[in-house]
Amino acid sequence: MEIFSKRNIDAAKADIEAAKKVVITAHLNPDGDALGSSLALYNYLKTTKEECHVILPNNIPDTFKWMPGCSEILIWDNENAQKLLAEADMIFLLDFNNASRVDKMQKALEESSAVKIMIDHHPNPQEGLCKHVFSDHEAAAACELLYIFCKECGFKLSIDSARCLYTGLVTDTGCFQFNCTTKRTFRVAGELAAFNFDRSEIIHHIYDSYSEGRMRLMGYVLTQKMVVFPQYHTAYISLTKAEADQFGYQVGDTEGFVNLPLCIGNIQFSAFFMERDGLIRCSFRSKGNFKVNTIAEHYFNGGGHDNAAGGKSYKPLNEIVDRFVSLLPKVTLPLCRRRPRMRKRINENPSQKLKE
Ligand code: 5GP
Ligand code: MN
Repeated sequence: MEIFSKRNIDAAKADIEAAKKVVITAHLNPDGDALGSSLALYNYLKTTKEECHVILPNNIPDTFKWMPGCSEILIWDNENAQKLLAEADMIFLLDFNNASRVDKMQKALEESSAVKIMIDHHPNPQEGLCKHVFSDHEAAAACELLYIFCKECGFKLSIDSARCLYTGLVTDTGCFQFNCTTKRTFRVAGELAAFNFDRSEIIHHIYDSYSEGRMRLMGYVLTQKMVVFPQYHTAYISLTKAEADQFGYQVGDTEGFVNLPLCIGNIQFSAFFMERDGLIRCSFRSKGNFKVNTIAEHYFNGGGHDNAAGGKSYKPLNEIVDRFVSLLPKVTLPLCRRRPRMRKRINENPSQKLKE
């Protein structure tokens, strides 16, 4: 399972051994992979380092609060967090590859003279940001890469770290269902399973622990807010802050909503727009080889993976939705291409046309 060169591993390992004050960070609106990788590494390094802290740009969804070490995470608004980052001699950047993904922490991160190590699975890592870059955009999760990194460094992980890593694999692969799940992902999952923790408990924590408000909000968006364009194989959901608040919105409550329209057979492209933290967060998902990261990058100030991407905008929600709808005839062309060919075949065969 060796994917990183021994030279790069040895160089990073030497720096890790020399570091005294370590900070681990991950992207804004942390998901299972961001938290899983951060906490897996934290649970290892806290036993070997003088100081080690996980510092995140914003709050942690309730769904993940059971994770070992979660209560020790510091949020950037905390003054102590800012001091600790400034004093760190090593910073890990996990599950993101561009400083803009840590939002308010960006400046401090870029200005820090600490040795930076990136372990990530997004395309096109920002150049010049980190001394050590362990990046593979074919990995299903940052947790997959972190496991391999730790193994190659010879770090002995605990069962707590294994549970965190497994969480990241489960969430970023949608329970091992997306195509990003490879033979290697299953091998890593298999090696983690050998730690013998309760895997079904992890699934229950993530998927069967919704609040009543979240469940009702899901019903509301599906019945009232989902707009379907069968001709473009596309559907979107938009949500204002006021609507979300009616259901007692908590961070994480809309997690996964963007996937819901993809449950419709004919839908291959799905979007979710939400007013949040004074801006509009945009999420995009697709089935098959329709790439949403290029759409996120070109039109919504974002990026991401081929089938899961996101972006943001400071314009009003209705303007963004209008823009999205106006883009559909153009951006969904690859999804609609098969249609003219089918029509041609029907036209060529009049008897078939009659039967239709
Ligand atoms: P989500 O829709 O879950 O917020 O994000 C899905 C994926 O899109 C993330 O894993 C991340 O790779 C990417 N992503 C989300 N928001 C942004 C953004 O603002 N900028 C960039 N570059 N990527 C984003
Ligand atoms: Mn990830």
